[in-house]
Amino acid sequence: MTSRLFGHEETCRVEQRIIRKHLTLILFALSCILTSSRILAAVEAITVNGSQVQVGGQTKALSGNSFFWSNQGWGAERFYNANVVGWLKTDWQANIVRAAMGVEDPGAYLQNPVANKNRVKTVVDAAIAEDMYVIIDWHSHHAEDHQAAAVAFFTEMAQTYGQYNNVIYEIYNEPLQVSWSNTIKPYAEAVIAAIRAHDPDNLIIVGTPTWSQDVDQAAADPIMGYDNIAYTLHFYAGTHKAWLRDRAERAMNDGIALVVTEWGTVDASGNGAVDVNETQAWVDWMKQFNLIHLNWSVNDKSEGASILKPGASSNGGWSNTDLTQSGNLVRSIVRNYNGATNGGDTGGGDTGGGDTGGGDTGGGDTGGGDSASVVCEFVIANQWNSGFVAEIRVINNDSTTINENWTVDFEFNDGSSVTNSWNGSFTGANPYVVAPLNWNQTIAPNGITTFGMQVSKGSNGSPAQTPNVTGPLCN
Ligand code: MG
Repeated sequence: MTSRLFGHEETCRVEQRIIRKHLTLILFALSCILTSSRILAAVEAITVNGSQVQVGGQTKALSGNSFFWSNQGWGAERFYNANVVGWLKTDWQANIVRAAMGVEDPGAYLQNPVANKNRVKTVVDAAIAEDMYVIIDWHSHHAEDHQAAAVAFFTEMAQTYGQYNNVIYEIYNEPLQVSWSNTIKPYAEAVIAAIRAHDPDNLIIVGTPTWSQDVDQAAADPIMGYDNIAYTLHFYAGTHKAWLRDRAERAMNDGIALVVTEWGTVDASGNGAVDVNETQAWVDWMKQFNLIHLNWSVNDKSEGASILKPGASSNGGWSNTDLTQSGNLVRSIVRNYNGATNGGDTGGGDTGGGDTGGGDTGGGDTGGGDSASVVCEFVIANQWNSGFVAEIRVINNDSTTINENWTVDFEFNDGSSVTNSWNGSFTGANPYVVAPLNWNQTIAPNGITTFGMQVSKGSNGSPAQTPNVTGPLCN
């Protein structure tokens, strides 16, 4: 009896040991899975396709906030923390932020590298944890004078963060009136080569002459030999008007992609009155071209561009009365911009936002698992008085791969016409026929191919038309 009982207890102890060991293995495996999924990305890759910056291969709105200069003693460094990043995500529905690391001036990186780099890394780490995108900005007006420092800094950033889709490198905030081809471009090529040695793919944004307004000069002599390069456009609504939008449109027509890494509601000094009407004109224009944009800036300095009144909390949690006039306006712009055209990352709390309804979430439950094996749909991404941006989605719900030649077609009946398109070969002039390109012709099971277009409405003020998309594949 005793010996049998003893034997039973011993067996139990052995089994407990085995269970403990297995539990340890299971926990270890779980932690590996969690770690690798964090590294491998909660957010989709940003790529450049012609003049479009795309997220996960599609047009998607990204907008958010630029922090102020990181310089020690300039007063805004207290906002470089994870609480502010989290607050911008949840309350502003920002899906991108920008860490603006001062370089040359007092208190900046060259004088105090560790503290400034740590501020940047704090914001970057917080943005990654929040599934947001984040720009690492070399906030300089004289970067060509310190090329070696920029190469060393961005080498380290690429080694540290190149595996995260979240991270974007902005290698020169605002060049002054210096030569694009002889000064900025050679500097950019050196820094890009250093980044690409460690990170083959994340988006790199290059500043343009005259405080990042002469985008036409970059368009005339773009950087060649690298993928996923875009160029900086900055505007301040009180100073820069339709003439700068026209210039930027010409640059995009010439084939370069633009990112508005910094913009203000006030004049170019960062001060002055909020220009509400011109700000709205710029926001409508950015929507039209699906531009990523970030407002200047997260600060409580007593100047027009600050989003905060003096003395606001260092940790977010701001009420409307903590925000300046610019802060309140920009908060609503960011929330609408992301909600109206992006049902994705930012919680989609206010789908439909302020504008036209018909947001891009409408197509959500087409198809399902029933007889429709390939769904072809036309989705309005956003619209304005005289036009709209739309996407054709060809969704393969079948269990076999589509790899034959195929096309889809559609026709407007209200006089609308396509003025620009991407990701497909558009022919005809209503009806239109769209063929995929080499890289998006094959559609895997549960895969999707999308084509984008900009459309001029048949009459101003009419609603964007949603034609049927037909074709041999489409159910
Ligand atoms: Mg990468």
